[in-house]
Formats: sequence, C-alpha cells, structure tokens
Amino acid sequence: MFELQEQHRMIEQAVRQFCEKELAPQVEALDKEEILPYDLIRKMMDSLGLRDMLLSALEKRLEGKEAKQDNEELDALDATRQDILNSYIIMKELSRVSPGFTMAWGASIGLCGLAIINKGNKEQIKKYGIPVLGFDKIGCWGLTEPEAGSDAFGGMKSVAKPDGDYYILNGTKTFITNAPYADIMVVYAKIDRGQPKKEQPVHSFILERGMEGLTTGKPFEKMGMKDSPTGEIFMEDVKVHKDMLLGAEKDNIRDAAKESLGNERSGMPPMALGIIEKCYEQSLKYANERVQFGRPIGEFQAVQLKLANMYIHLQNVWNIVYRIAWMAREGKQDFTFACASKSYCARAALEVAMDAIQIHGGYGYMREYHIEKLARDAKLLEIGAGTTDINLLTVARLELQK
Ligand SMILES: Cc1cc2nc3c(=O)[nH]c(=O)nc-3n(C[C@H](O)[C@H](O)[C@H](O)COP(=O)(O)OP(=O)(O)OC[C@H]3O[C@@H](n4cnc5c(N)ncnc54)[C@H](O)[C@@H]3O)c2cc1C
Repeated sequence: MFELQEQHRMIEQAVRQFCEKELAPQVEALDKEEILPYDLIRKMMDSLGLRDMLLSALEKRLEGKEAKQDNEELDALDATRQDILNSYIIMKELSRVSPGFTMAWGASIGLCGLAIINKGNKEQIKKYGIPVLGFDKIGCWGLTEPEAGSDAFGGMKSVAKPDGDYYILNGTKTFITNAPYADIMVVYAKIDRGQPKKEQPVHSFILERGMEGLTTGKPFEKMGMKDSPTGEIFMEDVKVHKDMLLGAEKDNIRDAAKESLGNERSGMPPMALGIIEKCYEQSLKYANERVQFGRPIGEFQAVQLKLANMYIHLQNVWNIVYRIAWMAREGKQDFTFACASKSYCARAALEVAMDAIQIHGGYGYMREYHIEKLARDAKLLEIGAGTTDINLLTVARLELQK
C-alpha cells in the first residue's frame, strides 16, 4: 500500500519524460498566458495513451454499471477506482512542472467528466461524459457564484424553473476553471417550484456551449495557476431539456455534490505532492551547492531545519495520497478525511514552496528558478475546493457530531 508498483513507476517515468520534453519548454508561455494549455493536454493524452486508458476504464465501468443491477458487488471491482493511483501519479508529475496545467486537465476530466460519469445515465455518459473524458471536449464544473463561495449551497442564486419538459436556468457562476473555453459545463442551480428559497433543492445540469442565453466571460487575470483559464458563466433564460438534469429530481443532490466536492478535495493532495517533491529536491541540491561563509549552506542548521520540515511534509503527503488511493480502491468514502487531508496538504505545499524560496535566497525569487511559480500556484490549493478554514471547520463539525 505504501509504495509504487512497477506499473506506477513506468507511468511516473513516462509522464516525467513528457514533462521534460513537452511541458517544461512551454511553461513560461503558459504562465504568461501567451498560449492555452488545451492542445498540449490533448498531445499528452495521446502520447501517453491516457485517452485509451481512461476510455477503456470507462467502458469497463459502463459494463459494470449495467451488470450492477444484478450484482451489487461489482461496484467494488470498479475499474476506474482501481486506476486512481495512476491518475494521482500523473497529477503529481505534472504538478512538479505546472500545477496550473494539472488543474486545467483535472477540472475538465476529474470534475466535469466524473460528475457526468458518476451521476449521469447511459445516454448522458455516452453523449457528454466520453468526449470530456477523452478530452475531445473541454469541460468545466460550476458551483461557485459571485455571492456564494464558501456558502455555495445556502447562498446559491442560480435557479432552474421547470417548464414542461424543460428547465429555464438563470444565474451567474464565477471563478470557474476552464469556463472561458469549455464546450461542456456542469452547473448547479436551485430548482424553483414556487417553494420558499430554503426548501429549493440544488441540482446539477449539463450545459453545452452554443445554447441560447449561455455565455462566458473573458479569462480572469490571476496571481498563479495562470496556465488554467478561469472565468464566469452567465445563464440568461437558458432552456435546458430535462434530459440534461444529472440524476433525478428526487435524488438527494447534497450527497452527490458532496461526492463531487470529495473528489475535488481528493485531487488536491497529489498536486500538493508534486509541488513539495520538486521544491524539496531542488532545495536539497541547492543546499549542497550554494556556498556562503566558505561552506555549503546545507551545513547551517537553520537551512537543515527547513529541509527536515520539508521532508516531513513530503512523507506525510505521500502517505495521504496512498491512503486516498487505497480508500478509492476499496470503495470507502470519508468526507472528513478528504477535508482534513486537503487542508493539510494545501498548507504543507505552500509552506514548503515558501521555504524553498527562502533557501534559494534572491535566486528563489527569480522566475528562472521555477519555485516562485510553484509558490504562486500553491496558494490556490488553500482557496479552491473550499478554503483551508472552511475545510478545517467541516472536519471539526463532523467530528463533534459523531
Ligand atoms: C483559480 C480558481 C479556480 C477555481 N475553480 C473553481 C471551479 O472550477 N469551480 C467552482 O465551482 N469554483 C472554483 N473556484 C472557486 C473556489 O472554490 C472559491 O473561491 C472558494 O470556495 C472560496 O469562495 P470565495 O472565493 O467566494 O470566498 P468566501 O466564501 O467569500 O470566503 C472569503 C474568506 O472568508 C472565510 N470564510 C467564509 N465563510 C466562513 C465561515 N463560515 N467561517 C470562517 N471563515 C469563513 C473563507 O475561509 C475565506 O478566507 C476557483 C477559485 C479560484 C481562485
């Protein structure tokens, strides 16, 4: 459970080679927002065989879904879950070079794609889930609104009014990864059947670019994660057929949304791991090479303490990633653990990146040394998928309720 198997090592090696050859040379242009990440994502999917791997896992899963009606135990054999450590290794490797690139890929496949695959029916999976999973279409996942971030469900203003076989959607989503270029969007809205706001259930819908009344804003200018475009979604009387509702109106959407949030939160530790691993390796090397006062700076205890702290975070975050992968494989869900690990890993990544800059002194502050980008990107891990404080408060609330 606590070490990579041969197949994981091979994937790690292959992604590292892709990153060195293809991604690293483009990172500056991506970070300056001179180019978009999507062509490179498609290249990665093809050259690493990820497209085939994900689609064949989905095929097995679809077979499982059909067979599941007769045999519930098949769920535990779910092929996608078996492969989750592979996905985490890929995210880790990409995040060593560009967490922003990882986020553009992950938001499309992991958030939008998985929401459709986990909650959608066979037709929705075939029509929307497969193109998103294969990255033939870019996906985004829209929960956050201008006035509803941490209080995403309670404060939600987006509404879907039933109208015959349709829902009429109105509202605005903001800070949505990939929104400016997404072809397929999963958005959340309250279904308004005239009941008081508080009683309106939140549900998710699939939207397609080009639908009347559906527009997106320009990409926002950001501190980091610049290689993943972020923007708004505007819905003005968007007429959505009931076939585009994910799940059934009677479903308890909070549980499904919690699953999506759990997925989103579980995606952060592998990104944190990539940032920490790269910053630690680079700092160790620098501490051995950089000479001040006639000695390598690694001989000074103040630098050693930082390195030891980085090592502890690195080991802890690895252990968390292994455990989340194991839990996914076993079909175990633990929202408290997802929130706790997300907040721990996000803080650890930021701390390690900042210490890495400190160890590198003035050079660490320069773009050339790459860790200033990792530090800028790392800050987002403390904000996206619920802020660190909100995740910690959730942990405390759930534990106190036990
Ligand atoms: C680059 C980027 C990409 C993103 N991508 C997506 C995406 O793809 N899809 C999506 O749906 N969202 C996305 N988000 C949105 C993200 O999930 C929200 O920004 C986040 O949940 C915080 O919401 P907020 O920004 O509205 O902050 P607020 O909720 O306004 O919080 C502001 C501050 O108040 C604190 N606070 C709020 N309530 C409480 C409380 N009860 N107790 C204590 N402290 C509290 C928060 O911790 C925070 O420090 C993205 C954000 C960014 C920056």
